[in-house]
Amino acid sequence: MPSTFIRNAAWAVIWDPVAKTHAYARNRDLLLDGGKVARIAPHDPAAPPPAGAEVIAGEGLLVIPGLVNVHTHPTTEPSLRGVREDHGVPEQQMTGLFERAQSLRLDEAGRQAAQRLAYAELMAGGVTSIVDLSEPYAGWLDVMRESGLRVWAGPGFASARWGMTAPQTVTWTWTEGAGRAGFQRAQALMAEAESDPSGRLSGIVFPAQIDTVEEALFRDAIGLAEQSGRAFTTHIAQAVVEVREMIARHGTTPIQWAADIGLLTPRSILGHAIFLDEHPSIGWHGQRDLSLMAERGVAVAHCPSPFARYGEHLKNFGHYARRGVRMAMGTDCAPHNLIEEMRLAILLARNAARDMVAGDTAMVFHAATVGGADALGRPDLGRLVEGGAADLALIDLGHPLMNPPRDPLRALVFHAADRAVARVIVAGETVAQHGRPTKLDVAEAAGILAESQARMLREAAGRDYLGRDGDAIAPLSLGMQA
Ligand SMILES: [Zn+2]
Repeated sequence: MPSTFIRNAAWAVIWDPVAKTHAYARNRDLLLDGGKVARIAPHDPAAPPPAGAEVIAGEGLLVIPGLVNVHTHPTTEPSLRGVREDHGVPEQQMTGLFERAQSLRLDEAGRQAAQRLAYAELMAGGVTSIVDLSEPYAGWLDVMRESGLRVWAGPGFASARWGMTAPQTVTWTWTEGAGRAGFQRAQALMAEAESDPSGRLSGIVFPAQIDTVEEALFRDAIGLAEQSGRAFTTHIAQAVVEVREMIARHGTTPIQWAADIGLLTPRSILGHAIFLDEHPSIGWHGQRDLSLMAERGVAVAHCPSPFARYGEHLKNFGHYARRGVRMAMGTDCAPHNLIEEMRLAILLARNAARDMVAGDTAMVFHAATVGGADALGRPDLGRLVEGGAADLALIDLGHPLMNPPRDPLRALVFHAADRAVARVIVAGETVAQHGRPTKLDVAEAAGILAESQARMLREAAGRDYLGRDGDAIAPLSLGMQA
């Protein structure tokens, strides 16, 4: 594996293991070797670069740890570009999740194209680690391998499927054996990922949603996570409809039910834990959910965009963090722009709490790096430290939106975002440069996805409870002239 020497980086975000926080450093030399950060030292103008190393001039760069994205659906979400942004169902407290889940199904060619485009987008935005939560298809792991990214494969499984019979009525259709079959398939796929010689692929145990998996299967799934040392994730408290259904079934909130059956552990990453008992859209008695999450040491996969589009948000980021809940970040929908999600997380937290301290740059950057890495049980990721993984992003300080670079992380999060990401490195190898993937082939992907999306929207008529096609469910933003 080639070594790389970043010579005299103008700025770097370095991990302070004593204070357990990121800190700025100026004028640093960084040596990447064997897939790891071999050395970080003050720049020595007299020292020659190590023999054989690729030398990157660091004078115009900010070096940050690669971002860790703990919640993505790359194999489907790009197909909803132009479809879901303005779509919601008022009778379901705005969420369009259940209506789309019933009516929109992407074919395999489309899913592979979507995965390629989403991965390219993730890399272009400085992400080096992703949790890919997908319904598996043939070729899923191949794209992971090709990308050069560090990927946690989360093959979804569920015992029930959502449906709708009226705008206000969601149904759950339980199929005997479906959850178990999916769990078996998931175990085989996770094992296959983990046997990849690159060492970059892992598995994460992913029963899909708190309301679609039977209790015995949930118990077995968390048992497998504990016994195999894998992380565990599920969707929980992501919709008012779901919370009401869980209360109807169990007499308690989904968070409290999950605690009762042993799902809340330090291995658990909760997507998205928004609608807690204290959330104004729920208003359930007791206010126990957040304390339970803190006591049990869970992490939250905070993905603000999709919920903000429905007029909802997590209340509030700073409050969760200060209560001891471990905060991590993800991109639940397209765009897969984790830097813009960080910005939105700050703005929504402040607006929800009407308080500046509800979120700030340091807090969300911590969540999008160390928070995610710790949630995945990987202290070698999400921070720049000697001996840690050589996963990093090089930010162009020369970009106009980074200037003046008085506080370059603020400039990145609030201003430039992915536009200033010059190069992304995973395990010492460049995976993206100037916004383009270097290993992953995306040449055909956009055309394939457009065809699959059109097919998906046409075929919606055969799935939707009112027989509508996709253009009727989610009309274009403007009318079309003849
Ligand atoms: Zn999700």
